[in-house]
Amino acid sequence: MTDSQVRKARYDLHNHSTASDGELAPAALVAYAAASGVEVLALTDHDATAGLAEARLAAAAAGIGFIDGVEISVNWHKYLVHIVGLGFDPEHTELQRGLAGLRQMRMERAEEMGRRLEKLGFTGALAGAQALANGGVLSRTHFARFLLDQGYVKTLQGAFDRYIGQGKPGYVGSDWATLAQAVSWITAAGGQAVIAHPGRYHMTATKLRALIEEFKALGGIGIEVVSGSQDSVHTRHMAELAQRHELYASRGTDYHGPSQTWLNMAALPVLPEGCVPIWSTWDPPL
Ligand code: AMP
Ligand code: MN
Ligand code: MN
Ligand code: MN
Repeated sequence: MTDSQVRKARYDLHNHSTASDGELAPAALVAYAAASGVEVLALTDHDATAGLAEARLAAAAAGIGFIDGVEISVNWHKYLVHIVGLGFDPEHTELQRGLAGLRQMRMERAEEMGRRLEKLGFTGALAGAQALANGGVLSRTHFARFLLDQGYVKTLQGAFDRYIGQGKPGYVGSDWATLAQAVSWITAAGGQAVIAHPGRYHMTATKLRALIEEFKALGGIGIEVVSGSQDSVHTRHMAELAQRHELYASRGTDYHGPSQTWLNMAALPVLPEGCVPIWSTWDPPL
């Protein structure tokens, strides 16, 4: 393949299923990806790998490539940062122990969120969010869907803006993984660590550079240059940063389902010229 073909191939390496806060079951997500022209898909549920086996089988049946993925919640200074892991061994003990700890913290956080939302008058919030999660990893998204379904807010965004976004009355902080832990769990399991949607953290250029430098020193190698939740100005900026810091570029819609999406998979732009795709390090065929 030429450089341009490598850059333009339809890799979509950040997406969610019902194993966390996505709306589609893993197999349905894969079917949607295949119908959208995706050639290689990664499933990257929050702090969970439970959807990978189903997705991998579905991808084989649909004739598209599949990469095991995860999106790990990290506290870095005052920021909530997400680190995507790609191509690891899902059975790896250290990785699984780390993710199990994060899920335990999610349960404790959800109970406290439930108490706070009750006090705000939203009866049954925890049970409602749990019912919506239906066994998947419990996320703020499920609380937001509960508030929306009950008519307490008009949009999902409104639930975050008024009640469960950082600093709002239903928000509960959590002791997520450190950056070092997230990168080491991923790399110990044989995977590649990628900074997810860097444009969403509202960091100054100096802070973002510090994050990138620390991440690289820990063994991280990639950054999402194209993300469904980032605009084209951010994409250009992230492409420059990737080149300057010699990070591989990744691309992912961060798709959460038909009613909670920034972009459809088919509409996600390709990587800008000059980026070195993270998939250029992979052994084809996938
Ligand atoms: P959690 O990891 O449980 O704290 O939940 C964070 C998730 O909430 C993210 O992965 C997004 O899917 C979702 N989310 C965060 N902010 C917003 C927002 N403003 N609008 C809609 N969804 C959001
Ligand atoms: Mn999410
Ligand atoms: Mn994220
Ligand atoms: Mn995500």
